[in-house]
Amino acid sequence: MSERVLSVVIVGARGRMGQTLLRAVMESDDMTLVGAVDRSDSPGLGQDAARSVGLPESGVVLSDELAPPRGSIVVDFSLPAATDGNIARCVERGVPLVLGTTGITAETRERLRHAGKQIPIVSAANFSVGITLLTQLAQIAARALGPDFDTEILELHHRHKRDAPSGTALRIGKAIAQATERDFERVAVRARDTTETQRTTEEIGIVALRGGDCAGEHTVHFLGPGERLELVHRATDRAIFARGALRAARWLADKGPGLYDMADVLGLG
Ligand code: NAD
Repeated sequence: MSERVLSVVIVGARGRMGQTLLRAVMESDDMTLVGAVDRSDSPGLGQDAARSVGLPESGVVLSDELAPPRGSIVVDFSLPAATDGNIARCVERGVPLVLGTTGITAETRERLRHAGKQIPIVSAANFSVGITLLTQLAQIAARALGPDFDTEILELHHRHKRDAPSGTALRIGKAIAQATERDFERVAVRARDTTETQRTTEEIGIVALRGGDCAGEHTVHFLGPGERLELVHRATDRAIFARGALRAARWLADKGPGLYDMADVLGLG
């Protein structure tokens, strides 16, 4: 018996992630593209969604309206301003949602929680399976090593990145703080420039390096008496996020309503 083919609608299809997703869906054996959406002033509207970005013809026209067919699944990597409307469309049509858009507001988070009572949703600010695992491993390590080990997070990104430290470094720090019952906002130290103050035991240091073309590197250091442990993740290609999102889409296809994250997808939740 042939495997079920998953019908996918991509939102933000003209964007960097959207194009990576288009390619990944078109190259996969178990997925088919049934919709591609971008904003109303986007170039390429009304044209073949894949052709207009230099990929082979997909037979799907780029639209500015999200109308996912029943039985399909929406993968949204666009902008926070679009998220509320996209959640509403998915709920109306009873269609699962994989949401990768970052920077969503607390109100939108609340909407997601509410929508998760009606449809299955995976929302993650980082769909890399490696980062998801690194975050969990760092929690296990922090709990096991205890307060004798100081925690420092170092991240390195290309020179064009605007925000520092990275959202991922902050999330790893929060996860470690949560695992060891510390208040992250109180113990996080994002920069050091001092001649007087020593590090405290409970601090979680976060340091950002910027330069070159590095796609993203995160290292969690646990620095103890006589030994140290380093957990490292290196991203070399943004396709890892698309692969993770499509893995989440496959996983979500037979799930009931709920708001899930990447740890659930990997069976770590
Ligand atoms: P991008 O700017 O290249 O692409 C965004 C696309 O969304 C553009 O084509 C834009 O026209 C489109 N868009 C804007 N408003 C829209 C609307 N109302 N309806 C439909 N489409 C709309 O950005 P990107 O690098 O592709 O990233 C997109 C989002 O995904 C960002 O929020 C980014 O932070 C996030 N992201 C998440 C992960 C993850 O793992 N979760 C990884 C990479 C990027």
